[in-house]
Amino acid sequence: NTCTIGAGITVTDLLESKDFSGLFPDLAKHLKLVSSAMIRNVSTLAGNFVNASPIGDMTAFFLALNAQITLAKDHQKRIIFLKHFYKGYKDLDKGEGEIITEIIFNIPFGKFNFEKVSKRTHLDIASVNSAASIKIKNGIIQEAHISAGGIGPIPTYLSDTCNFLNNKELSPTTIIEANNILQKEISPISDVRGSVEYKRLLLRQLFFAHFIELYPETISLSNLILQS
Ligand SMILES: Cc1cc2nc3c(=O)[nH]c(=O)nc-3n(C[C@H](O)[C@H](O)[C@H](O)COP(=O)(O)OP(=O)(O)OC[C@H]3O[C@@H](n4cnc5c(N)ncnc54)[C@H](O)[C@@H]3O)c2cc1C
Repeated sequence: NTCTIGAGITVTDLLESKDFSGLFPDLAKHLKLVSSAMIRNVSTLAGNFVNASPIGDMTAFFLALNAQITLAKDHQKRIIFLKHFYKGYKDLDKGEGEIITEIIFNIPFGKFNFEKVSKRTHLDIASVNSAASIKIKNGIIQEAHISAGGIGPIPTYLSDTCNFLNNKELSPTTIIEANNILQKEISPISDVRGSVEYKRLLLRQLFFAHFIELYPETISLSNLILQS
């Protein structure tokens, strides 16, 4: 089963879609962290992807759904994973004149969460952001897709971390071990938004927050911190 949406829609279009809210119960809470109403009214999903800011919120959102995008030019079209669209800083797998027309992701995707830390809660781009979709069956992680922004030159799909999590028991130990892998696959730089150490700590906290938010019956901040 897949969900396909037009790449030219705005963040507000998503926010106002009953179908989308049905898929993402916390959609309003998550999307209200994206800039301001005025910017959400005009900024499109494809614009956010192609703008290729390493801290694009909608890019992090769809990376965590392991979304694919359709690129079209004249009568040709091709479909690639969004995670493969970014080759380097503002360097895209996009030919001259190619337009992103659609975004496609699998449903159901389990539980979804989006986290963002910025200097101001609203109307600010992130210091670090992260999103996660996690599917669990009988206490075992079936499928985890986790993204992060602000921790390297491109919006990042955390492949090594996701591979590690798949087929593991959901437990504080698994999450702490996964964070060790996560820390090896990111390369933040110090800038006006924070030092390397601060961004590493932020992403650890956001990574923990996904599990605390989605699986509070199994994971709590105190058991993660005590075991770290
Ligand atoms: C004040 C301000 C605050 C912001 N805050 C945030 C924030 O908190 N979080 C966040 O994620 N972003 C933020 N942004 C970025 C914003 O959300 C948009 O992603 C960004 O400005 C791009 O705008 P746009 O969607 O109108 O795209 P455009 O400016 O129209 O396009 C951007 C690029 O994408 C290309 N493009 C557009 N559509 C397509 C398509 N379908 N196929 C191929 N190429 C295409 C254009 O040619 C252009 O190169 C902010 C921007 C501003 C100005």
